Amino acid sequence: MPTKGTIGVTTNNIFPVIKKFLYSDHEIFLRELVSNAVDATQKLKTLSGAGEFKGSTEDLKVNVSVDKEAGTLTVSDSGIGMTAEEIDKYINQIAFSGAEEFLEKYKDTANAIIGHFGLGFYSAFMVAKKVEIRTLSWQEGAKAVSWTCDGSPEFEMGECDKAERGTDIILTLDDDEKEFLETARIEGLLRKYCRFLPVPIIFGKEQEWKDGKYQDTDKDKVINDIEPLWSRMPTDLKDEDYLKFYHAIEPGQDDPLFWIHLNVDYPFTLTGILYFPKIKNNLDIRKDRIQLYCNQVYVTDSVEGVVPDWLMLLQGVIDSPDIPLNVSRSYLQSDRAVKKISTYITKKVAARLEEIAKNQPVEFEKKWNDIKIFIEYGMLSDEKFCESGLKFALLENTDGKFFKIEDYRKLIEAEQTDKEGNLICLYATDKEAQYAYIKAATDKGYDVLMMNGELDVHFVGMLEQKQEKMRFVRVDSDVIDNLIRKHDDNKPQFTPEQQEIAQTLFKSQIPPVEKAEFMVSFAAMSPDDKPVVITQAEYMRRMKEMARFQPGMSFYGEMPDMYSMVLNTKHPIVQKIVEQAEQALEAEIKPVDEEINATQNVVKAIRDLDKDNKGVPEDKKKDLEDNEKHLDELRKKKENLIIAYAAGESRVHQLIDIALLSNNMLKGEGLERFLKRSIGLLK
Ligand code: ADP
Repeated sequence: MPTKGTIGVTTNNIFPVIKKFLYSDHEIFLRELVSNAVDATQKLKTLSGAGEFKGSTEDLKVNVSVDKEAGTLTVSDSGIGMTAEEIDKYINQIAFSGAEEFLEKYKDTANAIIGHFGLGFYSAFMVAKKVEIRTLSWQEGAKAVSWTCDGSPEFEMGECDKAERGTDIILTLDDDEKEFLETARIEGLLRKYCRFLPVPIIFGKEQEWKDGKYQDTDKDKVINDIEPLWSRMPTDLKDEDYLKFYHAIEPGQDDPLFWIHLNVDYPFTLTGILYFPKIKNNLDIRKDRIQLYCNQVYVTDSVEGVVPDWLMLLQGVIDSPDIPLNVSRSYLQSDRAVKKISTYITKKVAARLEEIAKNQPVEFEKKWNDIKIFIEYGMLSDEKFCESGLKFALLENTDGKFFKIEDYRKLIEAEQTDKEGNLICLYATDKEAQYAYIKAATDKGYDVLMMNGELDVHFVGMLEQKQEKMRFVRVDSDVIDNLIRKHDDNKPQFTPEQQEIAQTLFKSQIPPVEKAEFMVSFAAMSPDDKPVVITQAEYMRRMKEMARFQPGMSFYGEMPDMYSMVLNTKHPIVQKIVEQAEQALEAEIKPVDEEINATQNVVKAIRDLDKDNKGVPEDKKKDLEDNEKHLDELRKKKENLIIAYAAGESRVHQLIDIALLSNNMLKGEGLERFLKRSIGLLK
């Protein structure tokens, strides 16, 4: 006689609650049922190992099938099965009260935790209007039991016919859950969640092409790989195995650069394989490529919190029964165990990279440019990793040679230490555009690094902080003699009067260049150096580059680029131009200068009346104002005299244009004018 009973819950409406709370992730019911089925087979193995179960454990498997006509989905296993008492204990009482307690506890945050916990067996009611269990326990003399429940807290239980050991869970699907009768849908889900379960999961038959169509063969279609690579010993595996596994989980990708096989038992259990993918371009960079498993059951690919942020660029799998999966993400992130796991992974990745760098230096150099983005990102975002990274990170120079940071220090120490004892690393970001500057530096016996990676501007900043007395300066940020200042400045050769003239002479003639502003400065370089050089100060340029990555700093990005147009005061042409200008303008400027001096004296005299800081006397205020205004006018007048002269001094234009040209800044109309003028000079 079938017995009737009420499931041991206090509320009558727990099923609607299950359905409602889990609305977005109905599909996980399949994961839960298949996991239970796998557990049942594993338990049998355990019993067999303990000598309690005497039968064979060879042919343990789980079978999933759908019957479209009947509207049912069945998960069958050949595991331990359940007796009537066990159903009563595990299904009617314990499991359910556990679920209720859980829902009660997480009522408010239920949405956030969806998909991260299983209600186990009861998740079947998310999709089924009726669930039937037919089960035969492994125990001798056990009778087969059937249990049926239609989604209300009432169930029916009784004996049934079932000859084979194990459990069938038969779901009669809800009308609006018919998608789970579609073979393709179920196969997709099984491949997602069950792909690496340790017992064969069978779904239908293998097919073959016969008589003009695909037909079932006798062979079971096994969905999963029961011994995935990460569960095997690294010593048993070859490179091909790792590559093959990679392509299976990441179809359509290039071979990975490196991989790391994680394998730890203490203080937590964790296995997995992480791959450094080859990133073709930045669009390829995607987080969430690592899959998280719990005893070979797929859980999620949102590994945030478990894996350090920078390692989320990697691909592969992590399997740990110790990661608390049944909780919300914010909990996960603050969980101590999870933090430990994350630290461990970082340590392991660092150790492996160090090992590769040491044992396969050529290989490591070859792949450096591909792998660099990961390492730099890691070093920038993780203190601990940074410490290790400093040991194996490479610097590449403009000749394509690679150096460890420590070795590079030694290489440039003799030539590139400035008078304050700072080691100055020169770098370029564009070999072509900065050719002239690179050449000037290498001609002088300096080495120049290439720093054209996405994160290099930050990386350079970080190295300056971590490495004592190490500074980075881009080759074009100053004239060559000033890049590495070895003695006190060469005093510019010009008198203050000449400087004033030269400033206006050149500044006034610089054509407008988009998003750029110039100031004119002086440096006593060698007479053989270029007469005019354009530089961009390291600090400002770097701030602007960093601003691109930092939302709050966008005002830096909007500012125009500031350049210096540096006049080489030792260059004969520059000297000649300035001297000639001084002479030519002398007659006109002299009286203006005299007047400027006189007016300045008047202004000074009035200001001196204010010695005790009480303010300029009332009756002198107007006088002061007038004189200051006059002074401005005089200065303007002087400036205009120089500008008028400069306009007719084609050598000034020519020098400016050549400097712009060598910086790739002379374009369009300006370029055209330069070409015309140059041809004119040939006459
Ligand atoms: P959990 O799996 O988290 O314990 P479930 O609600 O999924 O919770 O299952 C409750 C119990 O019911 C399981 O612990 C197990 O003892 C029993 N059970 C569920 N499915 C099966 C099955 N296919 N075969 C044998 N026992 C099962």
